[in-house]
Amino acid sequence: MSGPLTTVDVPAIQAEPDAASPPCVELFESRAATVGGIPVRRALPKRRRRTVGAWCFVDHIGPVALTGDRQVEVGPHPHIGLQTVTWLLRGEQVHRDSLGTEQLIRPGQLNLMTAGNGVVHAEESEGYRGEATGVQLWVAQPDHTRHGAAAFEHHEGLPEVALPTMTATVLLGALEGQVSPGRTDTPLVGLDLDGRAGTSLLPLRPDFEYALIVLEGETEVCDRVLSPGEMGYIGLGRDGLAVSALGPFRAILLGGEPFREPIFMWWNFVARTREEIEVARREWSAAGDRFQGVASPLPRMKAPVLPWRTAAAS
Ligand code: MN
Repeated sequence: MSGPLTTVDVPAIQAEPDAASPPCVELFESRAATVGGIPVRRALPKRRRRTVGAWCFVDHIGPVALTGDRQVEVGPHPHIGLQTVTWLLRGEQVHRDSLGTEQLIRPGQLNLMTAGNGVVHAEESEGYRGEATGVQLWVAQPDHTRHGAAAFEHHEGLPEVALPTMTATVLLGALEGQVSPGRTDTPLVGLDLDGRAGTSLLPLRPDFEYALIVLEGETEVCDRVLSPGEMGYIGLGRDGLAVSALGPFRAILLGGEPFREPIFMWWNFVARTREEIEVARREWSAAGDRFQGVASPLPRMKAPVLPWRTAAAS
């Protein structure tokens, strides 16, 4: 496999900031992809919407039945300029990284890895059997932290806010005074919504744009039904969102101040220019000091060929 991002997701050009204020909700279809042999629905990035706040990548993983023969096996691969956010609804995974971290993650727990100038990690389900589903998210780091040191955080017992028909778990940022312990480098929020039939008014910040991604069941916002495989984009200028459902559902709401730095994403890298990507790719391929080893039995991923170069030149 060739890692998460391909030119199907985003053309290899520098993106302009694209915050917008549609009337209420704008629907985007997710793209079916495969990561480490597991089906995913990729909600972000889209060609017409690269970021929502600093959120720049959203994979809804599974649901998939893991067996003795079918496991999550994502071998050591590099990241720069982003944070990875792992949140599982069911299943478990072991995270290992080049900082020496080995961390089992279960539903209700948050893994947050900051790549900065460079980090390497691997993810494996390590013999877990049963249903697995969750989300893998990336947050673009701003210029003032993206060249900094890598870091890893694991959080359990995240704050929850009880709304009339849903429980909101605060993965990152804050809701109604409940603040996640997770590091954020730009103003943003990430919520898990565990809902049931009825309507709740979810408080929003007018200076944030948002994306609502339904993982299970259905919800209705602004007279539009959202199902798994769709992302509802909600633009700036709203201070609340009525979220309705006819039955149980699970969703994530991601939001933040529009990310004003024009990012350039390729493979597992978030940068600003082609040159930065080329340097990172070269340093990963050369196995130098920037990208250290990971204690994983899986093989190290090979970087794909740069799409703007010929195979011979890269
Ligand atoms: Mn990764």
